[in-house]
Amino acid sequence: MTTSRTVLVTGGNRGIGYAIAEEFLAQGHRVAVTARSGEGPAGALTVRADVTDAESIDRAFSEIEAELGPVEVVVANAGITRDTLLLRMSEDDFETVVDTNLTGAFRVIKRASKGMLKARFGRIVLISSVVGLYGSPGQVNYAASKAGLVGIARSITRELGGRGITANVVAPGFIRTDMTDELPAEQQQEYLRSIPAGRFAEPSEVAKVVTWVAGDDAAYISGAVIPVDGGLGMGH
Ligand code: NDP
Repeated sequence: MTTSRTVLVTGGNRGIGYAIAEEFLAQGHRVAVTARSGEGPAGALTVRADVTDAESIDRAFSEIEAELGPVEVVVANAGITRDTLLLRMSEDDFETVVDTNLTGAFRVIKRASKGMLKARFGRIVLISSVVGLYGSPGQVNYAASKAGLVGIARSITRELGGRGITANVVAPGFIRTDMTDELPAEQQQEYLRSIPAGRFAEPSEVAKVVTWVAGDDAAYISGAVIPVDGGLGMGH
């Protein structure tokens, strides 16, 4: 049995974040989720926060600390896409995606690291994407933001690895959520053909890997990029 921890999952009101929160709850942890709208799963504490706003993150952490204690495990999951080809991509398209997916993760883990340093314990899990290292046409902004998370995890590992803190990246492939439902059927079929496993995955399949890498059995894993992609990104 893994030690019971206080866990925060950003973007835990739907999709992969919701499934991650559910899995941590099922394993007996104290779970909080951030949401801009809606609620996390039953049993989780839902706090309002927007990852593009450092003050709202600080408020959310203070609320969680008061209710559940210091955050020991943080999962930076909140993310968006704004796909378009390079020539059509505006600076705003680029910056908005980077501000949410990359700077957003930075804001959250910076705030989380305060308590982790004090406790000399922490588990940081960054939800990247196969696209971060594989690349994808129409996703220059998204790929840049997701590749950046690898640099963050590895730098944290070198900076804080001696203080009982690990930082790892989980890189999902094609997972069935609102984000992928939006893609045109033709594009979905194209992806399907290139996935060795021959299928898409469910959010719970990502959640089980996240809880494992945040658990006691993975204490000696840090700075790793763990694919959950049915073989799509082999060679990373
Ligand atoms: P969804 O679009 O289903 O959910 C995205 C989540 O992020 C929502 O909870 C959303 O909150 C939250 N979010 C977005 N912007 C912000 C913000 N500014 N502040 C706070 N929360 C925000 O996406 P998925 O569940 O599919 O994706 C979750 C993560 O997994 C993302 O980082 C995504 O890039 C990554 N991923 C997904 C893959 C897939 O195939 N689905 C593949 C690889 C990676 P709200 O409901 O308020 O908008």
